[in-house]
Amino acid sequence: MEVIQTACELCPWGCGMDVYLEEGKVVKVKGTIDHPLNRGALCPKGMAVPEFVYSKDRLRTPLKRKNGDFVPISWDEALDEVSEKLQSIRDNFGPKSLAVAIGMPILLGGNSTVSLLRRFCDVYGTPNCFSVESICYRPRIIAYILTLGKFPVADVEHSKCIILWGHNPQASNPPLVRRITSAQKNGAKLIVIDPRATAFAKKADLHLRPKPGSDGALSLGLLNILISEDLYDKDFVEHWTKGFDQLKEHVRDYSPEKVEKIACIPAEDIRKAARMFGSIKPACIAQGINALDQHTNGLQNSRAIAILQAITGNIDNPGGFITTSRVHLNPIRFPEKLTEDPIGIDQFPLFYEVWGKLFGEGQAMVLPDVLLQNHPYPIKGMIISASNPLLTWPNSRKVEAALKQTDFLVVMDIFMTETARLAHIVLPAATFLERTELCDYYGTIHGIPYVTLRKKVIDVPEAWPDLKFWFELAKRMGYGEHFPWKDVEEAIDYALKPTGLTVEKLMEHSQGIPFGTIRYDQYKEKGFATPSGKVEIYSETLKALGHDPLPIHRESPLFQPELAKDYPLHLTTGARTLEYLHSELRHIPKLKKRQPEPFAELHPETASEYEIEHGDRMEVETVIDSIKIKAHITEDILPGVVNLPHGWAEANVNLLTTCRPGDPISGAPLLKSSFCRIRKC
Ligand code: SF4
Repeated sequence: MEVIQTACELCPWGCGMDVYLEEGKVVKVKGTIDHPLNRGALCPKGMAVPEFVYSKDRLRTPLKRKNGDFVPISWDEALDEVSEKLQSIRDNFGPKSLAVAIGMPILLGGNSTVSLLRRFCDVYGTPNCFSVESICYRPRIIAYILTLGKFPVADVEHSKCIILWGHNPQASNPPLVRRITSAQKNGAKLIVIDPRATAFAKKADLHLRPKPGSDGALSLGLLNILISEDLYDKDFVEHWTKGFDQLKEHVRDYSPEKVEKIACIPAEDIRKAARMFGSIKPACIAQGINALDQHTNGLQNSRAIAILQAITGNIDNPGGFITTSRVHLNPIRFPEKLTEDPIGIDQFPLFYEVWGKLFGEGQAMVLPDVLLQNHPYPIKGMIISASNPLLTWPNSRKVEAALKQTDFLVVMDIFMTETARLAHIVLPAATFLERTELCDYYGTIHGIPYVTLRKKVIDVPEAWPDLKFWFELAKRMGYGEHFPWKDVEEAIDYALKPTGLTVEKLMEHSQGIPFGTIRYDQYKEKGFATPSGKVEIYSETLKALGHDPLPIHRESPLFQPELAKDYPLHLTTGARTLEYLHSELRHIPKLKKRQPEPFAELHPETASEYEIEHGDRMEVETVIDSIKIKAHITEDILPGVVNLPHGWAEANVNLLTTCRPGDPISGAPLLKSSFCRIRKC
C-alpha cells in the first residue's frame, strides 16, 4: 500500500494525515504520528475522508440552468459562458459590479491560494472580494492588533492557568484538546467561562456560566478585581502600556456585585477567577471560535481580553500570548491596483485596514442590502466559492432574495448546496486530496512555526481545483500575462522564493518542516507595533472613529423590556458540532449516523415551563421568523437559554437571525445573543 502524507482540510486546522492508497484509490487514512499539531489523532471528520472524496453525491460536471433545470455542460462551455458574462458585466456596468465571496476551507486553503483568486479580481478591477471573515473572528484580529499591534495565539500547552472563554474545543478544535489536557496533566489550572457545561467545564477548577451577551461586563469585572487587588504586573504596565489610569477609573464601576446582576454569575466566583488568573503565571485566555465575536460588543470583548492578558504580563512569554515569525512570501496580489474600497468599508473602515495593515476585503454583511437596493451601485454578477450563504449568513430569506436578484450567479463547490441551487452556473470542485497547495498558517493559528504542502493524492478529472478554474478563466479573458505561471506549483514556487523553500523541497519532507521561530520577548526588543509602541489600553484610533476608546459592555440592543415580554428566552446559535463544519459534510453516512439531526438544547426548567419533553418537536420563533426542531433537554445549558446549531437545511437557524444590529466597529452580526420564544408543536 502506498502512503502519502498531507494535511487534512475538512476544517481549518490542518491536521497531519497519512493517506493509504491501493491501486490509486484511497482506502483509509490515519493521523500522522509525528505531526506537531495532532500527533497521530484525527477527528471523526478526518476519519471520514475516504467516504467524503468518493461520495456518490459529489458534483461531477459543470451545470447550466436552462428553463429552471440544470443541464450538464463541458468545462469549455462553462468557461466560455462565465467569461462572456463577466466581460459583459464589466463593459455595461463597470468591473466593481462583480462580487466574489469565498468561504471556509474544503476548497480554499492557505494564503497563497486565496491571493491567487484575489489577483484575478485585481486584474478584472473589482474591489468587491468578501470572505467568511465577515462573520468569523475578524473582530478579534482587529481588536488584538488595535491593542497589541499583532495577532497572537494562546500558548495553552505551556500555561499554568488557562481560561477557555466561550470555547468548546472538543467540538470545534480537537487538536487543542490534546494541548489543554497535556497542560492540565502538568498542573495547569483551568477556568471555563461558558453558559454551557462543556466537557472541559465539567473538569475545570472553576466554571463561570454567564448569561449570553454579558461577556463584556464580566471582563470589566475581572479587570476591576485585578486592579483593585493589585494583581497586575506593575512593571509591565508602567513601561509598556498606554491608558492604564483611564482603565483603572473606567472599571471602578464594575464591581463583582454589579457584574453578578448583569451576567448572573456569583460575585465570589468572579473574584476567584480574577485571583486565579492574576496570581498564576504564565496564564492565557483561549477564546472560542466565534463565541465572543458574534455580538454587538464583539470587538470590545476581544479588546478586554487582550488587556487582561497584557496587564498580567502574559505577552510574548511561553504559556501566555505568543506569535511566531512570519513566513515571508512573495506577494501575489496587486495591491497598487486597489484604487477603490470594497462595499461596507465606508461603515466599517477597520474591517479593511488597521494602520496600513491591509485585510483588503469588504464586509459581506451589508451585501444583501446592496444587492436588493442597487445602492451605492448595482452588483450584477457574483461568484461564490466554497460558501453556502443561504444557510450560513444571517437572515436567510433576505440572502435568498438578494442572490436571486443577481443577473449572473456562479457557485463552485464539491456538492450541490442550497446556494448552488440558485446559480446560473454550478462548477464541480476538487477536494483537498485532488490539488496541491501551501499550508503556511500553522504559526498564525496554532503558534507552531511549521510549513507543509497539501498534496495532490488522487485525480478526479471532472472536478477542478478552484485555482485551475481561476487560471483558466484568466486565460480566457485575456489576462494570461498577469498569470505567468504554467501551473499552481509554479505559482507556489514564486510565492515561496523569499523563504528558500520550493515545492520540490516540501515534497521531499512529506509531513512538513519546522520553519521560523516563536518570538518570545519580542516587545522587549521591538516594542509593540502600535502608534505609541506600547499596548494601547486606551485607543485613540477607536476614539477618532467615534467608538469607545476603552473596552465596554454593551447590552444587546434587541434586549428591550417591551420585546422581552414577547421573546423572553435568550437564543444563542451556531455552536460547533464535532461531526460537521457549518453546512458541510451532511452527505457523509458515517457522520450522519453519529449526528443524524439537529436539536435545540433546553434546560429541564425551561422545558417544563413550556411543557416540552425530550424528543418533542418544538417551534422556536424570533422577531424575524420561526423554525421547527427537536428538543434536547439537558442540564448542560443555562435555564432561560435556547441553544441552536447552524448549517442544517431542515432547521435553518439563520431564518431566525439578522445581521443588524451588529458590531458597530467590525460589522459582525449578532448571532450569539438574541431572543426567542418557544412552544411545543
Ligand atoms: Fe481534519 Fe478533524 Fe483535524 Fe479538522 S480537526 S483538520 S477535520 S482531522
